[in-house]
Amino acid sequence: MNEIPYKTYLNENEIPTAWFNIRSAMVNKPAPLLNPGTHQPMKAEELAPVFCEELIAQELDNDTEYFPIPDEVLNFYRMYRPSPLVRAYFLEKALGTPAHIYYKFEGNNTSGSHKLNSAIAQAYYAKKQGLKGVTTETGAGQWGTALSMACSYFGLDCKVYMVKVSYEQKPFRREVMRTYGADVTPSPSMSTNVGRKILEEFPGTTGSLGCAISEAVEVAVGTPGYRYVLGSVLNQVLLHQSVIGLETEAALNKIGVKPDIIIGCAGGGSNLGGLIAPFMRDKIKGKLDTRIIAVEPMSCPSFTRGVYAYDFCDTGMVCPLAKMYTLGSSFIPAPNHAGGLRYHGMSSTLSQLYADGYMEAVSVPQTEVFKAAELFARVEGTLPAPESSHAIKVAIDEALKCKETGEAKNIVFGLTGTGYFDLVAYQKYHDGLMDDYCPTDEDLAVSLAKLPKID
Ligand SMILES: *Cc1c(COP(=O)(O)O)cnc(C)c1O
Repeated sequence: MNEIPYKTYLNENEIPTAWFNIRSAMVNKPAPLLNPGTHQPMKAEELAPVFCEELIAQELDNDTEYFPIPDEVLNFYRMYRPSPLVRAYFLEKALGTPAHIYYKFEGNNTSGSHKLNSAIAQAYYAKKQGLKGVTTETGAGQWGTALSMACSYFGLDCKVYMVKVSYEQKPFRREVMRTYGADVTPSPSMSTNVGRKILEEFPGTTGSLGCAISEAVEVAVGTPGYRYVLGSVLNQVLLHQSVIGLETEAALNKIGVKPDIIIGCAGGGSNLGGLIAPFMRDKIKGKLDTRIIAVEPMSCPSFTRGVYAYDFCDTGMVCPLAKMYTLGSSFIPAPNHAGGLRYHGMSSTLSQLYADGYMEAVSVPQTEVFKAAELFARVEGTLPAPESSHAIKVAIDEALKCKETGEAKNIVFGLTGTGYFDLVAYQKYHDGLMDDYCPTDEDLAVSLAKLPKID
């Protein structure tokens, strides 16, 4: 028997009963969302046509430490939570590292990722407000899948705008969403003003998250009884995802382990923001000196090559402005980038923490991500999502550094989901058709030149 179990589960009654708001612990709060017309901070009433009321309150609250998880949401969590914290004994052995590697696995639900943690909360608040339905965008499809499940649970209508390249490459994702009753449209589409405009300007575009967001917002605002919901980036989403970090903290306490390094992939920042929430609080208070590393794709490097500035959250420029590390809202990653994490910006909470030096960030090429994914699948028995595999890649790199120094560091990473719907990407990798596209400085300068001027 190993001293530390392969899986550390909490009991059902140890699922957190409140979400933790990391902003409450921050010295420098994230910059407020701005009205795109007046450049003044958005007030709750200005956000009300777009978002659900209680979610707006959560979005704007930088001070409340804990938000109780409503019973209906907690009961739903009980179907698939707590998620296991796994000691990666077999990966350690394969690497020959003295490091102790742990991962928090969020792929144990039908949607296959952590996104369900926020989807069920957002659907709950929409239902509570008496809405008829919600609209959203989805990139790789995990968010759309999670939201479809959540909406069918609460009897809400769900309209999903799916980035065209994913719609075409991941037909099975689409079918899961339709199984749960969602209406799925490839984006850009001809069904919205913004979609038509984008198609006119960029015929043949494979779409982007920023563009799908604009379409979903347009439909939400223009359809009575509908609001728009978003699966990442926003403060409220990081809040809901704190359930990951709180469970991780409780499990590590159970086995008496202090993390030296915490690693997470970063698309819009929700899983990472959730995973690190309680650890970041202790780090800010000087009680913990854990290194926290965000991992992003080399082809969409918001933290590592973006600028910290106010930008549009969407291509159509209909959303509020957010201050974040951004590549510019017109940035569209190369279509041969298969590894997810394609959003041009980053959570404003994580952006502020990164600007203040509480976190590190690295970008990695996609063939190395898939190489790490394959090793992980072979030794740990779980087929990881390409997004999650960014974190695996850097966890492996850090474990190999420990092999050189002989240090038995505790490395914790977020394994955000499974890769069963990403087999076209795996196929590309196996067939040698995947390349490591990296935007040039000139490419980035084009979209960065279009940042809004805020004084
Ligand atoms: C959406 C997604 C991500 C990235 O989103 P974040 O908001 O940055 O967490 C990572 N992994 C999986 C499996 C996803 O579905």
